[in-house]
Amino acid sequence: MTQVRVGTHDWVASQNSNALTSESYDFADAFDRVLAGNKSYARRCGEHEPQLWQSLAKGQAPDVLWFGCGDSRVPETTICDCKPGDIFVHRNIANIIPQGDLSSESIIDFAVGAVKVKKIVVCGHTKCGGAVNSLTDADLGPALNNWLQPLRDLRRKHQAEIDALDSIDDKANRLAEYNVRKSVETIVSNPTVQKAMAERGVTVHGVLFDIVTGELKVIDADDGESLSAAPWSHR
Ligand SMILES: [Zn+2]
Repeated sequence: MTQVRVGTHDWVASQNSNALTSESYDFADAFDRVLAGNKSYARRCGEHEPQLWQSLAKGQAPDVLWFGCGDSRVPETTICDCKPGDIFVHRNIANIIPQGDLSSESIIDFAVGAVKVKKIVVCGHTKCGGAVNSLTDADLGPALNNWLQPLRDLRRKHQAEIDALDSIDDKANRLAEYNVRKSVETIVSNPTVQKAMAERGVTVHGVLFDIVTGELKVIDADDGESLSAAPWSHR
């Protein structure tokens, strides 16, 4: 029997010291493993924070709307040491926010317009498969070719700079950063976001998650070009 060992957040330790522990699950079947993991999670919640789900059952009031990549290594609630109810989430391949995309614009209308989040975060990450596969125009199938088109266009726009970098990692990471900047621009130009920025001081932030260190880097608007309308986070 294959042992599936998956690191999990230790409930008690995480409340106090941000310590991480791992828990072992002995299942050959990955679906059995996630069901067992949920049972364990629900039991720990019941023991240590029984009011959490009772409170969340009454409604949600997250402060943050997060746009991220669907990559399994970048689970926003885990990497930001948050809890269920803290972050409203939209994730897709390579955190691309195309102009006119019905899915992401619906998320914005709901999370910003109705739920009234205070912060919008776009998170790219290093070693992103979507960015790596946008360094060329290789045929990945009609849907994926179409989806990655904005990222491939962005690569063409910065082709000379990206070509000058040494490694595939460096090239993909630079493209991922440009993609975050582009997505922030798109979000800031959204009418619902514009209204929320003017009326409630909502801010939009770009970050890049480093898969190697597990840390977020804030992307500053250092070029000051078309991002001047966006109240970027500076640290
Ligand atoms: Zn990715």
